[in-house]
Amino acid sequence: MIKLERIQKPEYLSDAKILELTETFKATGAIVWNHPDIKDALLISSHSKCAYCECCVSEESKYMEVEHFEYKDKYQDSVVYWPNLLPACKRCNIAKGSHDVKIEPILNPYDADPRAHISFRLYKLKGISGVGKSTIDALDLNNSERLVLRRFEVAQQVENSISVASDRLSSYEESQTNVRKNKLFGIVGTILQECQPQAIYSATTATAVLTNEEFLQIVEKMRVNNIWPEHLEHYLQNALRLVLQPG
Ligand SMILES: [Zn+2]
Repeated sequence: MIKLERIQKPEYLSDAKILELTETFKATGAIVWNHPDIKDALLISSHSKCAYCECCVSEESKYMEVEHFEYKDKYQDSVVYWPNLLPACKRCNIAKGSHDVKIEPILNPYDADPRAHISFRLYKLKGISGVGKSTIDALDLNNSERLVLRRFEVAQQVENSISVASDRLSSYEESQTNVRKNKLFGIVGTILQECQPQAIYSATTATAVLTNEEFLQIVEKMRVNNIWPEHLEHYLQNALRLVLQPG
């Protein structure tokens, strides 16, 4: 989970439309929130990922659902209230079910930075506040098959790339050619792109990469050799904002 920025509500959700949809929902229980403009705006704000678990919601079987933070059956007036809507995958939506966030608060990633509430250890999340713990429980964020294994896999992938980067740095140090330098930039750029907010499971990859001693040494050596370009620094700073503290 990473901190997200809510964007402006879609024009479709005018005050009159909100009133009309809310009344329709109250009277008939109709699914009034599944409008493409609502879904598109939510997907833009979450980089097409589930706001909770960071899986890609455009993949098959993980299609996006409009999640009501305050659940719709009890808090009917918020059924199309923009700050109450989040993009979630089916699994997180089902796990959360009718959890009442007013009785037992959980993190809304549009309002709070998860890093203040959640730490990371051995591909599992750990609550470091009451809200953090409730969030992990309510959303089943340590489900082994669905999430812990996926986090392990994405972390393994970037760790393999770090080994390649290490070899490319050694190769550059042996002979400082432009070709070797560009190959090194390429792999380090690829690693850091996996740690950007747009990438799936970016909290995991950012944490795995930026707590990896080998990677930190590569960055240090590139700086010392004066081959640390601005675009990599930009990626690095973005990634640092997503790192969860070790639990
Ligand atoms: Zn999810």
